[in-house]
Amino acid sequence: AKRDRGGKFRFFDPDLYIAATARAQLRHSLQGALAAEQFELHYQPRVDLATGRLCSMEALLRWRHPDLGMVPPAKFIPIAEESGLIGPIGRFVIEEACHQLALWRTAGLALVPVSINVSAHQFAHEGVHAHLAMHLARHHLAGAMLEVEITESAMVAEGVDVQRELAALRELGVRLHVDDFGTGYSSLAQLQRLNMDVLKIDRAFTSELTVSPEGRVLFQAIVSMAKALDMAVVAEGVETAGQLEALVALGCDEGQGYLFAAPMPARQAGALLGRPQMM
Ligand code: C2E
Ligand code: CA
Ligand code: CA
Ligand code: CA
Repeated sequence: AKRDRGGKFRFFDPDLYIAATARAQLRHSLQGALAAEQFELHYQPRVDLATGRLCSMEALLRWRHPDLGMVPPAKFIPIAEESGLIGPIGRFVIEEACHQLALWRTAGLALVPVSINVSAHQFAHEGVHAHLAMHLARHHLAGAMLEVEITESAMVAEGVDVQRELAALRELGVRLHVDDFGTGYSSLAQLQRLNMDVLKIDRAFTSELTVSPEGRVLFQAIVSMAKALDMAVVAEGVETAGQLEALVALGCDEGQGYLFAAPMPARQAGALLGRPQMM
């Protein structure tokens, strides 16, 4: 029940009802989506700011819904996590990324690593390392060809031996990225203890970079901290030439964003591998 403006209780809120129904429907169609092959990975380049070269591709999950069109991950990943479907979906992402790398290699292209997103739930209930090791081996790929991105909240998720999972991934040669840095609650001690390789600074900080002096100071502070911890720094959401210029001046290592390229289907990403100079 919800209290309306008159202070009385209303027991039926049509908006909430519609939202709940849409969610239930989405959950229902999500269950069949894997079998119906409605998922695909798109790839977004990450660029070395010193040389302008492509250094990696981030795999971003896309759901091609027969009626709704492309459903963004922000809409369905939370539902997948609640319902446990993130397990099989996460395994699909690992399989597909490895398979795609093998296809590109067969096509004679010079590979760059593919970076995949892994949620807290996957670490907690599924275990990532065993599945990843299996698919790397199946396709004769070195561990260094995959990178794993986890958010700060996933790094500190309760009841999970994150440290052990991450150490096992590192054993394979997989580089570990902190995703959306600055939006969560990780401490310097955690970053150090978990031995994270790369800090991806959330796009909120990139967009403040050229807007206010405080934004620039904050960004600079994060870069200095990362360097002190011996981590590489990636700026997310780079959209303007002004931001790029500021990032280079601050010593940020790599960038990702619409300025370079939006996420794209595998075919187009493959074309980039053939000419890796991005800027
Ligand atoms: P993320 O990992 O932070 O991925 C970056 C998001 O920013 C992507 O949104 C990308 O399309 C968008 N983006 C890239 N450059 C720019 C830019 O210059 N400006 C702006 N405004 N946006 C930019 P997308 O693809 O909608 O993904 C949203 C989130 O969904 C991801 O955020 C990630 O947390 C999650 N996600 C995507 N794929 C997977 C997956 O396979 N597994 C899991 N667990 N989560 C995923
Ligand atoms: Ca990411
Ligand atoms: Ca991110
Ligand atoms: Ca994000």
